[in-house]
Amino acid sequence: MRETDFIVVGLGPAGESVGAQLAKGGKRVIGIEASLVGGECPYWGCVPSKMAIRAANSLMESQRVNELAGSATATPDWAPVAKRIREQATDNWNDQVAVDRFTDAGGEFIRGRATIVGPGKVEVNGEEITASEGIILSTGTMAAVPPIEGLADTPYWTNHHIIETEVVPESLIVLGGGPIGLEMAQVMNRFGADVKVVEGTDRLLPRNEPEASAVVKQAFEAEGIAVHLGQFASSVTYDDDSFTVTLADGTKVTGEKLLVATGRDRLLKQLGVDALGIDSSTTRALTVRPDQKVQDGLWAVGDVTDTGLFTHIAVRQANIAAAAILGNDFEPINTEAISAVTFTDPEVGSVGLTEAEAKEKSLNVSTAVKEVGHTARGWLHSAGNEGVIKLVVDNDSNTLVGATSAGPHGGEVLGLLSLAVHAKTPISQLKSMIYAYPTFHRGIEDTLGDL
Ligand SMILES: Cc1cc2nc3c(=O)[nH]c(=O)nc-3n(C[C@H](O)[C@H](O)[C@H](O)COP(=O)(O)OP(=O)(O)OC[C@H]3O[C@@H](n4cnc5c(N)ncnc54)[C@H](O)[C@@H]3O)c2cc1C
Repeated sequence: MRETDFIVVGLGPAGESVGAQLAKGGKRVIGIEASLVGGECPYWGCVPSKMAIRAANSLMESQRVNELAGSATATPDWAPVAKRIREQATDNWNDQVAVDRFTDAGGEFIRGRATIVGPGKVEVNGEEITASEGIILSTGTMAAVPPIEGLADTPYWTNHHIIETEVVPESLIVLGGGPIGLEMAQVMNRFGADVKVVEGTDRLLPRNEPEASAVVKQAFEAEGIAVHLGQFASSVTYDDDSFTVTLADGTKVTGEKLLVATGRDRLLKQLGVDALGIDSSTTRALTVRPDQKVQDGLWAVGDVTDTGLFTHIAVRQANIAAAAILGNDFEPINTEAISAVTFTDPEVGSVGLTEAEAKEKSLNVSTAVKEVGHTARGWLHSAGNEGVIKLVVDNDSNTLVGATSAGPHGGEVLGLLSLAVHAKTPISQLKSMIYAYPTFHRGIEDTLGDL
């Protein structure tokens, strides 16, 4: 039986970072990873998906030449994208560089799937390890597979398969209209697949503002993606190399491949959290205190917590946990200013509360909405200018409590809005600021004018 100061379970962006920081800070750290050190983000998430999006967007820009600058014909070829993902993003899904990075920082590395067997105790590869100071859970999420009749018996794809594919299918059904599903739906459509999106609720990106959902739906349909809304899938079959998804109203949607992107699962039961007194049957995510502690001897960082499923949250939480444990100063996460971007075209950036969320909290809010095409830059940009800026203002504090910027470079325009929500900048100050003409972010000034 081995003994150490800290056991870090899961070495994605969160776990690798906190583990390395603690080791550098003089703690004995054992890091355990079941799959690849680095986690979802570099191998099957943010990095390869954004490489694919960059390529797909270049194809769409070439089509815009026809509207703006003469004529252009582009022939999509997935091979350079697959090669870039294989060689540049993932080292052919080899994590040696990351393992070395962790051990060079002073961590001890074990490859295996860990199970918690008691406070401060973990079992991996048949060995029990004890941590004198505590366990850090950073086990992230995996694609959730909903209990749809027949689905489990089919060769469906998750984000892992679609990122690893060397071939674009002729047709693709995407189950789930959230960020992961929509980003890959648009990529595959632009590379020539016939794509159909099935979303059970009545709009795409249901967690975003409805105005952003409408813009994305319109853009998707304009480029030939079929969008089925308001019907959950009731069964899935797979015959003769083809999937059929039957919706609640009997509609049948067929495709060569099926991407399941209906949410993420933290697999807390398999992890063994019940051995720590946490009921896995009722706990979907771990709730943390401002120092990332769950309870004595237990910390959690990254997607396994209920703060947000993003790399920027995961690495910030890792920094906080490391600082708190090592006795250094730290700023807790400002949960009122969490920002996120869905990298569809148009990009959808959001920060803080939506109007509906603000009203649920009984805030007295005003809103303003401006179409990007009605701003100077949006209008002159023309082809590909779909988008909207929406501001949610708390009338009592006269500050922004939420904002959305959908459109060209929507994620970059979000930067200024994130600062305003984070710093609680008075609306009067936002109005008096000078916005360079004609930028996309100047659309914020136009929107403020409508308040
Ligand atoms: C397709 C896709 C696109 C994304 N795009 C973005 C984006 O653009 N921007 C953004 O901010 N975020 C994005 N994300 C989310 C981002 O990947 C996650 O927020 C981030 O990876 C979370 O880091 P983490 O360390 O908490 O967990 P993970 O990256 O999930 O890492 C957890 C690690 O723990 C390991 N593990 C789990 N259980 C055990 C166990 N019992 N024993 C040992 N090891 C275990 C897993 O194998 C995994 O390697 C995307 C995700 C996906 C799937």
